[in-house]
Amino acid sequence: MGARSRPRDLRTDPRLIVVGSERRKRRAVSLEQAAAPQAPRCPACAQPLFVWVEARGWGMRGDELIYRCENCGLAVEHGAVPSAEGAAAMLDRSPLRAANAASLQAWLGAENWAALRPSDRGVKLTPAAVERLSELAGRRVERIRQPAGAGIAAMWQTLLNLLTFHRNFVAEAASGRLRPGAGRGRAAYFVDAAITGLAAIPTALLAVLLEGGALLARRGGVLEITSAPRR
Ligand SMILES: [Zn+2]
Repeated sequence: MGARSRPRDLRTDPRLIVVGSERRKRRAVSLEQAAAPQAPRCPACAQPLFVWVEARGWGMRGDELIYRCENCGLAVEHGAVPSAEGAAAMLDRSPLRAANAASLQAWLGAENWAALRPSDRGVKLTPAAVERLSELAGRRVERIRQPAGAGIAAMWQTLLNLLTFHRNFVAEAASGRLRPGAGRGRAAYFVDAAITGLAAIPTALLAVLLEGGALLARRGGVLEITSAPRR
């Protein structure tokens, strides 16, 4: 029995994605076939990475390309893809807090997701990526928590990013990295300040509701991973 005669088996294989209408043409391609030649590899599961979001000249940031692994969900910026060993070394710290690329806020925000801030080029993990990296690191994952406070704060910032010209406006302005004349100009800066002031409370309430639902569905924005060396 060849795989060709069992399309149902193909669809349940996590390494394969089905393209086109399933009813019209039951055709599947592997991630390898769908990937661009020379595509970088996921440090957790070694599958090819695909472009997830592309932000061009957004605010004070330059062009930016974020990759995501279609297999384990890990996300990482172009030019900052670590080796498998480098990514696994993240787990040497325990507990480790990391942005969850398999979260409601990552899906909702996409290029406006608060975790994609200019100062953070680190890998955005997922529970599935953590499992794979822990094997590479020779560690055992004891617990993955989704802290509510950190998740709500990140959801709040993500919602504000959907409204403002500059991402993470308050943090960037407060740190002095974003000045009125820089970024997208003086007018955009003051519009962002006004929007942030007006929208702060409604978006905070919405963030509590959305992140509360996300936590129930285990799709919180922040992961706290506790691991220990395997014995
Ligand atoms: Zn992966």
